[in-house]
Amino acid sequence: MQSYIEKAEKVFMHTYNRYQIVLDQGEGVYLYDVNGKKYLDFAAGIAVFALGYGNKEYRDALKLQIDQLLHTSNLFYNVPSIKAADKLLEASGMDRVFFTNSGAEAIEGAIKLARKYYYKKHGASDSQIIAMRHSFHGRSIGALSITGTKKYREPFEPLMGGVVFGEFNNLDNIKSLINNKTCAIVMEVIQGEGGLYPATEKFIKGVRELCDAHDILLIFDEIQCGMGRTGSMFAYQNYSVEPDIITCAKALGCGVPVGAFAAKEKAANAFAPGDHGTTYGGNPFATAAVNKVFELFDKMQILKKVNETAPYLHQKLEELTIKYKCIIDHRGVGLMQGLEFAFPVNEIIKKAMDKGLILISAGSNVLRFVPPLIIEKEHIDEMLVILEQCIVDSLP
Ligand SMILES: *Cc1c(COP(=O)(O)O)cnc(C)c1O
Repeated sequence: MQSYIEKAEKVFMHTYNRYQIVLDQGEGVYLYDVNGKKYLDFAAGIAVFALGYGNKEYRDALKLQIDQLLHTSNLFYNVPSIKAADKLLEASGMDRVFFTNSGAEAIEGAIKLARKYYYKKHGASDSQIIAMRHSFHGRSIGALSITGTKKYREPFEPLMGGVVFGEFNNLDNIKSLINNKTCAIVMEVIQGEGGLYPATEKFIKGVRELCDAHDILLIFDEIQCGMGRTGSMFAYQNYSVEPDIITCAKALGCGVPVGAFAAKEKAANAFAPGDHGTTYGGNPFATAAVNKVFELFDKMQILKKVNETAPYLHQKLEELTIKYKCIIDHRGVGLMQGLEFAFPVNEIIKKAMDKGLILISAGSNVLRFVPPLIIEKEHIDEMLVILEQCIVDSLP
């Protein structure tokens, strides 16, 4: 394993501090490294592998599509993309979709759509977007421009203009930022990277009302919190509020790189042929994965499962929070939970990996729990035993 790691450090650009593990195989909720060591996975490739590893039906569907047709370009129609579009629109309540290859690209598309909507209405190119502090929307220039963490943005400035940042869950603050140039308000329904902060009902409903009153498009970034993670297909469905545009990725392909932005007709209509494009986006391979993911969500009753297991995880993490003074907050919804510690969690994560548990952080002090959605209570118990040992070992 060490030789792979040394080689990797020579060939890759230094954009990550990786954990010292070379992963090799997966089965269910477990991963194996190249030495055969087994890990219980509470990260799911950063909220991606909702269905767990090695699902036979999913793998078979991909193999079939590989043999049939991988790619067509968007100069032609292909059947898997049409079926996948139908399923995503049905699940989200949106009217039209554009498939991308990643989350960041979905965000780029959503930004372009909002700007085009404003441009069509006003014939002017001076639109503004309101984004949230502590948000995360991806690493491309447009996505970075609406990401509310200075550390990510600063080295790459000047970024895209026309962005102002407001305070998440502070309706008065957002209201004060609106002017007649505001074309969109963009937010994660549950801030992921920013530290597992759910939007309050009051905030989300209030922002929707502001958007309605001023003809502003509301964009929900569902890339991490969507696809069943909160117990609803999309997190906004927990609030009975609908956005005008959503972005989706991560678990949408359950391992195959694919994203999407989808919109209500009113917004989607702003695009005309030539306004946006992608070579790979929506190709038959990626969208065959999306199709199978939606099919399996149904067949395996993933939402029902999440609604059974998530309260258990929530309760157990709550108990830990009460028991250990070093845990200063517990936040999250469904199988997207976070524990905020009084100190950086990196040591806990490393100790957990030694003991065969994969956990990740969100920022420096928050442990993030985003397991595969097929997790069972017994896996949660197994995780808790290791986690508690690591907490005790890390106490200052
Ligand atoms: C991961 C993530 C993105 C970026 O997705 P990529 O596929 O990494 O480009 C955007 N928004 C949110 C909320 C995310 O969690």
